[in-house]
Amino acid sequence: MIFFDRCPACGSARWTGLRRYETIPTFLFPLDEPEAKRVEALSLEICRCETCGHMARNGWQEAVLKKIYTEHYAAYPNDTSEAHLTVYKRPFDAFFEVTKPRGNTPLLLEIGCSSPRNLIPFREAGYEPMGVDPSPCATADEPGIRIIRNFYEQAVIPRPADAIVSRFCLEHVTDLSSHVGKISRDAGAGCEVYIQVPNAGLGLVGLSPFFFSHEHIHYFSESSLTALFARFGFAPRRMDSSGPSILAVFQRPEMPIPALAPPLIDAAGIRRWMDGVAAQKASLTRLFQRHQDLVFYGCGMAAYWALSEIPSCRTQLRFLVDDNPAYVGHNVPYWGFPIHAPGVDQLGTQTLIFVAVNPAYHDRIRDRLRDSTNKEAFWTFPPGAMAPRRLFAV
Ligand SMILES: [Zn+2]
Repeated sequence: MIFFDRCPACGSARWTGLRRYETIPTFLFPLDEPEAKRVEALSLEICRCETCGHMARNGWQEAVLKKIYTEHYAAYPNDTSEAHLTVYKRPFDAFFEVTKPRGNTPLLLEIGCSSPRNLIPFREAGYEPMGVDPSPCATADEPGIRIIRNFYEQAVIPRPADAIVSRFCLEHVTDLSSHVGKISRDAGAGCEVYIQVPNAGLGLVGLSPFFFSHEHIHYFSESSLTALFARFGFAPRRMDSSGPSILAVFQRPEMPIPALAPPLIDAAGIRRWMDGVAAQKASLTRLFQRHQDLVFYGCGMAAYWALSEIPSCRTQLRFLVDDNPAYVGHNVPYWGFPIHAPGVDQLGTQTLIFVAVNPAYHDRIRDRLRDSTNKEAFWTFPPGAMAPRRLFAV
């Protein structure tokens, strides 16, 4: 077991326990039945820094992480590169700015690039792109794009970089100091460091009951990302945390780094989240108790949270359905429930259907079910709500 004894982002000793979850599968994507049943469920403990607001897992095991990346991902047949999902790629493309190239061939290094195709836009923007990734997807088959098939910490970068891009990598890194220390050494004078990470602060503000996983060690906020890079002499030149990810570009400033701002989510905000999630759990438990059979619509974080935190629903669950064709026919990791396409058999006769998908999809589901005779059965949690509400106004 590996523990942080102080904040891994800012180094503060004001590092305390936030939440502990007892039964969280180590992999949260559907798999074929035998693989799904091989996934373990382990406790997940989250700590938080009172100085910069950073959150991180505490007490993880290297062997468990290795199993996730080498066995579970190998059995998951879909592209898992989060950076290239439209919801994340569009904001990055809008945020990334081609600045005046330095020298004839400015070097752009992408850490965790996955396929070399992802680097084509940088080549078109006038950079010499170089990607570092140990993944088998990182093949050197794109002209003008160099790929180093290795872990970033072990990769030798031939010359100082003019730009460094890291999308959805930092949250997986176990040793932030050695990782950002290497970024600092690889960055040439004036280098721009583009970072994109999930926006954990949004989960707290929106009262998301569960946005943690075994493979994500770190949960950044604007303040903790700034504090981490400040330790290596970088200051943010621009930042955007209005969406589901935080986008930031860091640079070594000419002037000394100004004093860091306190976290946006203070102790009162944390209390509000804790109380809100406790109220959500109590109200959902009461709702489930009023019904014999349940259907979960959506195999996402809310479903994993309910299965883990409200044990009675595991025996009440008749069907788990999902709109994602890549999920249908597979099984929920550890729990093993098969995932069906939503059809009349699953949605027509049940007494309670809990819509456990991202609220961004609620309108789409509502439109599709507009003519359903069973509208009153659909319940969900709108963002920020303490109690479940009907998906339809009836
Ligand atoms: Zn901190």
